[in-house]
This record gives sequence, C-alpha cells and structure tokens, in this order.
Amino acid sequence: MISDQMLKDLTTRTNKLNTCVECGKVNNSATATCYGSKPEKDCLSICWYCGHVAIFNQDLTLREPTTDECLEIHQSAEVRYILALRKRTLDATQAEAHRRRREQELAARRARRAERGRL
Ligand SMILES: [Zn+2]
Repeated sequence: MISDQMLKDLTTRTNKLNTCVECGKVNNSATATCYGSKPEKDCLSICWYCGHVAIFNQDLTLREPTTDECLEIHQSAEVRYILALRKRTLDATQAEAHRRRREQELAARRARRAERGRL
C-alpha cells in the first residue's frame, strides 16, 4: 500500500502544463514508479485520465512515441502493469462514486416520502 507521503516523494511537479496528446487533459506533475526517479528526456509518461503513453521531451513537454518506441512500449511488462493498476484504481473510484450517488438517491427518496407523510 502506498502512503500519502510515499506518493508525495514519488511525485514531481513539472512546472509545465502538459496537455495529453490523446485526450487533451492537462497535467502538471508526474509520479515515478520507483524512488530516486524523476521525469527526464525520453522517459515514458502515462496519462492517468486516458492511459495514453507519451514521451517526455527535454523541457518536460510531451510528444508521441516513434513507431520503434511504440513497439518497445507494447512489449513492456511494466507498462502493462501500470495500465492495469490505473484501470483497477479507476474502477474502484467509479464504484465508490456510484455507491455515493445511490445513497443520495435513497436519501432523497426517503425525504420525499417523509414530506408526503406530513401532508
Ligand atoms: Zn490522456
């Protein structure tokens, strides 16, 4: 389990507003997969919003991978693991959001019934 402090230690603010080349979401930080690692030229960037894999330029903006880099990325067990972790995290987040919406709907229904009971 990753603690908040561990996540903070692994996260680098890029001081750049990077736009994902696939989904257009803006990021200004990157989280390393191991201690002591910081984003630099030619490191991979995986967009947490859409899962698109891009490459950091020297100035920490992003570019599309070349064809050769795409082949290498698709063969990477680490990339597959991170993408699976991303999916599992998003699935859990969506399930929690669904549970909260359902609770709010039930509370609103109970409130309407109580209001009708008073009339
Ligand atoms: Zn994206």
